[in-house]
Amino acid sequence: MEKQRSLIKILLTNQEKILESGRYNKAEFGDLISKLTDVERSRQGILEKIEEHGSIDIPKLKIELQLSEKNLLCNIEYLKELGFLGFIGEKPRFFQDVVEISKQKGIFPNVTIIKEKKLCSGCGLCASICPVGAIIYSEGTFDFDEEKCIDCGLCYICCPRAFFPKVLETPEENDEPDINYLEQFNYYQEICTAQTTDERITTVAQDGGIVTTLLKMAFQQKLIDGALAVTEGEEHLKPLPHLIEDEDDLLHTAGTKYTNAPILKIFQDCRGHDKFAVVGTPCIMKALKKISFYPFNKPFCDKIALKIGLLCMESFDYVKIVELLKNEFKSTPADVKKMDINRGRFLIYDHNGSAFDVPIKKIKKYGRLGCFFCDDLTSIHADISVGSIGSDPGWSTVFIRTKRGAEFFQKALDLHMIVKKEIKEDSKSFESLSRIAKSKLKKFEEYHRPKMIEQDPNIRKNNFEEVPKGLTIDMVKLESQRCLQCGNPLCVTGCPVNIRIPQFIKLLKQENYIGALYEIKSYNLLPAICGRVCPQESQCEKYCLLNGLGEPMAIGYMERFIADWERENKLKECPECAAPKGIKVAIIGSGPAGLTCAGELAMNGYDVTIFEAFHAGGGVLTYGIPEFRLPKEIVKSEIETLKMLNVKVEYNVIIGKTLTIEDLKDMGFKAFFIGVGAGLPIFIKVPGLNLNGVLTANEFLTRSNLMKAFKFPDYDTPIKIGKKIVVIGGGNVALDSARTALRLGAEKVTIVYRRSEAEMPARKEEYHHALEEGVVFQFLTNPVRFFGDENDDLTQMEVIKMELGEPDESGRRRPIPIENSEYLIDTDTIIIGIGTRANPIITKSIPELEISKWGYIEADEDSQTNIEEIFAGGDIVTGSATVISAMGAGKKAAHSIDKYLQEKYINKKE
Ligand code: FAD
Repeated sequence: MEKQRSLIKILLTNQEKILESGRYNKAEFGDLISKLTDVERSRQGILEKIEEHGSIDIPKLKIELQLSEKNLLCNIEYLKELGFLGFIGEKPRFFQDVVEISKQKGIFPNVTIIKEKKLCSGCGLCASICPVGAIIYSEGTFDFDEEKCIDCGLCYICCPRAFFPKVLETPEENDEPDINYLEQFNYYQEICTAQTTDERITTVAQDGGIVTTLLKMAFQQKLIDGALAVTEGEEHLKPLPHLIEDEDDLLHTAGTKYTNAPILKIFQDCRGHDKFAVVGTPCIMKALKKISFYPFNKPFCDKIALKIGLLCMESFDYVKIVELLKNEFKSTPADVKKMDINRGRFLIYDHNGSAFDVPIKKIKKYGRLGCFFCDDLTSIHADISVGSIGSDPGWSTVFIRTKRGAEFFQKALDLHMIVKKEIKEDSKSFESLSRIAKSKLKKFEEYHRPKMIEQDPNIRKNNFEEVPKGLTIDMVKLESQRCLQCGNPLCVTGCPVNIRIPQFIKLLKQENYIGALYEIKSYNLLPAICGRVCPQESQCEKYCLLNGLGEPMAIGYMERFIADWERENKLKECPECAAPKGIKVAIIGSGPAGLTCAGELAMNGYDVTIFEAFHAGGGVLTYGIPEFRLPKEIVKSEIETLKMLNVKVEYNVIIGKTLTIEDLKDMGFKAFFIGVGAGLPIFIKVPGLNLNGVLTANEFLTRSNLMKAFKFPDYDTPIKIGKKIVVIGGGNVALDSARTALRLGAEKVTIVYRRSEAEMPARKEEYHHALEEGVVFQFLTNPVRFFGDENDDLTQMEVIKMELGEPDESGRRRPIPIENSEYLIDTDTIIIGIGTRANPIITKSIPELEISKWGYIEADEDSQTNIEEIFAGGDIVTGSATVISAMGAGKKAAHSIDKYLQEKYINKKE
């Protein structure tokens, strides 16, 4: 395992930098290296034995290596996370990308990967561990000085969110006698409720004042000579980590502030102390537990005399508290004397003892603490845990977990500094504590993102039935429980039509399906479509906080579920319309942009008519996206909803040919929305383009979908394809063509794409489905020319290998041909699916309309063109994009059209 030694190499290479930073002196540095060398040797030994056995045989390893089970298990976990145990199928738990980086470097990456995944718990340990001071904590998260970083990965090794071995969840060996176990609370010796007898502490501390009293006792009795806690900086209500050096300092630190400060950021400051206490939430306790093993196979610091844990649900957003004080109570942080929590209320006391009463929900901080990233509510890794849930006002709930915790608590009792009462397991408050702890445990362990049931690939590649079958009601019930109901839901900002996703999921959780349907339809009239074809992974789900664990909420699946539930139950819910305004609006094009704009305007009381060139509505939804991804019945049904809103649809009308905008004006239309898409195919410029057997994806898909070639002979419109098909492109269009060709009887379908898999713009799910169905992908390959026989029938195509260069204007790495790497592929049908562009029919008919050099309509943020009464949106403005972005544009345009018509006609009338 030579690779692993690179950590030591890195440290040695950067010795000067490390010593300069002042984190280690020469002797300490030498000690660090020698400890790490021992550890590496030990891991090397474990890995070699596992390789020799071909499996992980703990009893055998224990005997052969003379190591404890805990030592073995921790190291095995470490090796697994680094990706070294892949050969026996042991995969890292969370981050595949960590393994990719680790594999290249032989060590873990730096901890920014945790920050990027929004998993940082804010403990601050990384800042203390970094040997060169490259991590600087600020405002609840950290900044990273890339120039200083030496890429040793020590910060990742110590991070409690990076990976946390199961074996560390069990109590320390010396604590095992007389220990109790309750699944939701883990191991403990006793649970009770307690209160301080010190009146000064009562006036400032929260609940029973137990944390402050325990620390005071420990200082007085010289059981500790320092404590890592939290104080307020110069600014009131701005919690900062603080090293308390004596009893007098203590009262400044009391109160509900611990949860918001990266306490372990100043861990190194305790080096001069012989025995110190640490106070903090489960994340902080978890971090301490982790460095009780990593990076040295033994405690990183053995001077911690007491760990006082806090309950994690008591995590508050101080910025919100300050805002609330200002806006609702016309007060300032300086007026706050004490804060307290009781039975779902947050109480802020002023100096006169009056309390401002705030519902906890309003100030709760999610996504960092009080979240569901771990299963721990009660700080199971502490010596003693303290919290308010489960106790009467003015009392604290106390979990005594270890012998050490018991000794400290008993001493405070003996000195009459605290009083305690027994907690009865059948009391109501105990039950609620138990329930909350259980729900946290459950959410963490049991609920996983559901997988849709799908048609077997070998069967489905021969039919046009839909591939995924949707979620069952039971799956939705479970999935809706996983939502964190974030205070600041990033998923909503990730959705181009801003659906109130947490509210929608909450209604599902309450099994209020009609309510959920109304909620979603007030923002999106096409949920069955969006639930099927939206690239959620790069929109709402990308921003879901749970994404950090690799399992974002299945928002798209649930959207599809509710729309399907409506259809299956033969309901047809549509939002209410405003009173008719008697003003006519024309929508040109019935794609997602046009449909959305039409729906919004109809709901607003306008008299809306859609003009569509084809004989069926839906745009790409109907003629582009195949049946097995989006059944046309669904598109029809969603268009029906519009008809319920009194939207009229005129088919087979090409605006710019059959009728002009001027004609429409004569017909009484006052405003126009152009949503004609970008349906003109782009060709590649290679010799042989005119050979028989070369098609564009547009033609191919339109014939199959709109003209129903896939239903031949029921429909008299067949399409001729060969046996060896090559599709050119890497987007949804190419993949849809490939999978359609397979279903139409092709023997082999190959996709030729000039970039790599990582740059492919197609939806991940579709790529995965195509692979399952047997589509072959040739990445980094580009066509050079097509060859035909004497009848001009296609026979072969010449391609060239590509490599990736610097990023181009799209941000993707530019493909560059590799000289002399050309080769031939046998083929009888080539489908070109490299993209589309604007069709000029309508724009040519309105010469004064401003268009870009590519032929797209110029429209501003509000979808307004240079002509007052003409608005535009969707692909005809942006170029080929997505269904939901076209819908977002249609929605925006509807608001602008409403504003325009209000100003021009309605307000004038009044
Ligand atoms: P379109 O959907 O193109 O609709 C425009 C409509 O206007 C058409 O019905 C057209 O007939 C009509 N029209 C055109 N000119 C005139 C005229 N002069 N007069 C009257 N009517 C006219 N996006 C995703 O989000 N997920 C996917 O999985 C996905 N897959 C795709 C697969 C394929 C094969 C294709 C081609 C696109 C895919 N897209 C996907 C992209 C997405 O479908 C488009 O971005 C979206 O449909 C654009 O909507 P639109 O309303 O702007 O235009």
